[in-house]
Amino acid sequence: MRDLINKAETTHCLTKEELLALLKDENSCEDLFAAADRVRHDFVGDEIHLRGLIEFSNICKNNCCYCGLRRENTNIKRYRLSIQEILDTAKLGKDLGFKTLVLQSGEDLYFSPEVMTEIIKGIKSLGLALTLSIGEKSKQDYLTYHQAGADRFLLRIETTDKQLYQKLDPWMDWDVRKACLDDIREVGMEVGSGCLVGLPEQTLSSLADDILFFKQIDADMIGIGPFIPHPDTPLKNAAKGPFLLALKVMALTRLILPDINIPATTAMETLMPNGQIKALQSGANVVMPNITPSACRKFYQLYPGKAQTNCLFHPIRDEFALKFAAIGRTVAQDCGVSPHFVARKAKNL
Ligand code: SAM
Ligand code: SF4
Repeated sequence: MRDLINKAETTHCLTKEELLALLKDENSCEDLFAAADRVRHDFVGDEIHLRGLIEFSNICKNNCCYCGLRRENTNIKRYRLSIQEILDTAKLGKDLGFKTLVLQSGEDLYFSPEVMTEIIKGIKSLGLALTLSIGEKSKQDYLTYHQAGADRFLLRIETTDKQLYQKLDPWMDWDVRKACLDDIREVGMEVGSGCLVGLPEQTLSSLADDILFFKQIDADMIGIGPFIPHPDTPLKNAAKGPFLLALKVMALTRLILPDINIPATTAMETLMPNGQIKALQSGANVVMPNITPSACRKFYQLYPGKAQTNCLFHPIRDEFALKFAAIGRTVAQDCGVSPHFVARKAKNL
């Protein structure tokens, strides 16, 4: 295993069989995490990028079997922030010291391209970088968002196992989701994707495929989250995704895609106390504190017990600087464009 980790650390290339061997092995985890940490240090540095997350609507037309926001979940109070509330929250994010905001929601049809344009322009007038995570749209819509000023878009592929995807999202189509990722790239935004780890019936072989898929689509940022069952979904009796396996998938992703941005996800913190710090020491370089107005936060329940990286303090950097200094890291002062995106733009890719 040591040779395989060494190969990954020096060449950033592994075959599917090699990835699978590392995913299966239970004795080399700490070596793997340490290698991912070194690659993170060498390629994206010691700065941690903070993104202020605004969960602006929990209304969703889709019905993903794993998600608490699915349309058939009637046991949830639905909310939608107004344009003014979103812009006020964005202003708060700027005052707290964020350089990037992430707008995330269910697929809520109220937010037409026209409405999104108004919101995006309002946020960009604050001088912030903006990431959207609002689901599957047409190429024209993605272009409209980018032309209005959106810099990045996150759309997890969730799993590359098409059969499993179809089973978990019977109303959605894996090929359409993949085409969306191509469109996001073609219109010129930074491309973010990722997967869930520990879905029922998901195999280690398909997780190896997921990592190769991230390389194949030439992603700029990848978020890996353990699956956490929600009691009001068809997967309520499924087992939780294993924290260690999610961490291994994340660390291998860092080794294979060395210069991308990788968040230490909230789901990791939810599964394991200090999970985010462990993730930051195993390849991650981004944290997304939640700045959604507190009255709505509890209703954005993808899964139960969602950990809160709160930030009701000012200035945000001082608070995080202390926490990160303990692991030898600093809070970035800039908006943290993915170095991979910068490189591919320079090559005109
Ligand atoms: N609706 C958009 C979409 O699906 O791309 C963006 C919001 S969606 C809530 C963001 C992510 O939440 C999904 O990509 C999925 O990976 C994650 N998620 C949903 N349910 C989850 C669960 N039960 N456990 C862990 N993550 C979950
Ligand atoms: Fe909707 Fe996204 Fe949840 Fe699927 S994962 S139900 S698209 S919010």
